[in-house]
Amino acid sequence: MKSLIKKAEESHFLSKPEIIRLLEDNSINDELFRAADRVRKKFVGDEIHLRALIEFSNICSRNCFYCGVRAENKNIERYRLMPDEIIQLARNALSSGYKTIVLQSAEDMYYTAEMLADIIKEIKKNDTAVTLSIGERSYEEYKILKDAGADRFLLRIETTDKELYRKLHPNMSFENRIRCLKDLKKLGYETGTGCLVGLPDQTTNSLADDILFFKELDADMVGLGPLIPHKDTPLKDVKADGFWLSLKVLALTRLLLPDINIPATTAMETIHPDGRILALQSGANVVMPNVTDEFHRSQYEIYPGKKSVDYTKLEEKFKQIGRTISQNKGFRPICPLSLNPSPAGRGNNKAKALRKNMTPQEKKLWSILRNKNFYGYKFKRQHPIWKYIVDFVCIEKRLIIELDGSGHNFARTKTYDKQRTQYFESRGFTVIRFWNNEIDNNIEGVAQQILLSLRERAGRGGNK
Ligand code: SAH
Repeated sequence: MKSLIKKAEESHFLSKPEIIRLLEDNSINDELFRAADRVRKKFVGDEIHLRALIEFSNICSRNCFYCGVRAENKNIERYRLMPDEIIQLARNALSSGYKTIVLQSAEDMYYTAEMLADIIKEIKKNDTAVTLSIGERSYEEYKILKDAGADRFLLRIETTDKELYRKLHPNMSFENRIRCLKDLKKLGYETGTGCLVGLPDQTTNSLADDILFFKELDADMVGLGPLIPHKDTPLKDVKADGFWLSLKVLALTRLLLPDINIPATTAMETIHPDGRILALQSGANVVMPNVTDEFHRSQYEIYPGKKSVDYTKLEEKFKQIGRTISQNKGFRPICPLSLNPSPAGRGNNKAKALRKNMTPQEKKLWSILRNKNFYGYKFKRQHPIWKYIVDFVCIEKRLIIELDGSGHNFARTKTYDKQRTQYFESRGFTVIRFWNNEIDNNIEGVAQQILLSLRERAGRGGNK
């Protein structure tokens, strides 16, 4: 078992049977949590990103079996915040230092995409990221919201067990959920998903599928937590004992997706007194304090006993476990810490070696790109991005330039190139390629194309 954890820590890969073995063996839990904590530290560091959560409506058209705000629950008061109220809550949060506003709601079609877009635009006048968590919508609606400036979207798959999904979500379809997640990815949202742990009839087999699904989707964020049965739902009699298992799923998710953002969810801290800290020490690096006004917060009762975070003590508590509060928006890193050249210059040896051994064509292109010579755009060469090293990159415009034809790139295969390109595109980069002979014979044409690509990407900031 220890060697399995080591394998996960080093390669970030496990087969499904291996995940199941780790989920089922509770003698290795501490070892597993510690490994996830090391990977968290190595890839995303000690900073904790705070996201201000605004729950703006509990009026729901769905009937998810676990959720307290399901349409058929007649025992709760319903509310809907108006755009100016939402904007005011966001402003308050921004003035207390938050760098991300999360707009979450039940599935309430009262809010058209256009209405939400106006709210997003208003909030985005400030220096902040905006995350949406409003459920299933069409591609066109997601696009309107993205164009309005939304940066991220959270939509849990809840469970990848199709049969279980069907039972728990009347009149909904698993296929549409997947469609939504793919659309969000395609539109360039940082896409978050996740699952519930402790559902009736949920198996370790299906939890292993959940984790592999996160990896397959290349989720940028994964939020998960234990089911907390709500008395006014069909799942009211289910036992609330999913805490440790959900912590294990969290730890395994960190091992397999080392550089993503993972929140210590409210459900985790609601069900266990130290839930938040335990999660932060087992792979999590995000906390989402609720900034909805207290009156409405209590009405957004997706499950009972929902904890609220006491702010004043947060920083102190994080400090006690060696962590700090991040001052930036906390996007998934373009270049994970583990690959960042260190300030002392030790850095990534492979990239460094490549920088020394440039081919004549690389040298020629570099001579026009270096030092912001090229129309003021800043380029880096032989730059590590995740596990890859790209020839040239303009981070601000997310444009990658690769040279083909000879030199150190000759060993790349087509499939490998395709995988690389797919990965970069999923992170919002565009890749353009030139042959060495184009550099040799038509450098002006090459320059022209690079300029066009940069201009096409105007307005698309980098990691802002
Ligand atoms: N309507 C939005 C937001 C849902 S609330 C959407 O569909 O995405 C956010 C998450 O709370 C859900 O995805 C679900 O996983 C979780 N949740 C709902 N009821 C719960 C319960 N009883 N216990 C624990 N988590 C629950």
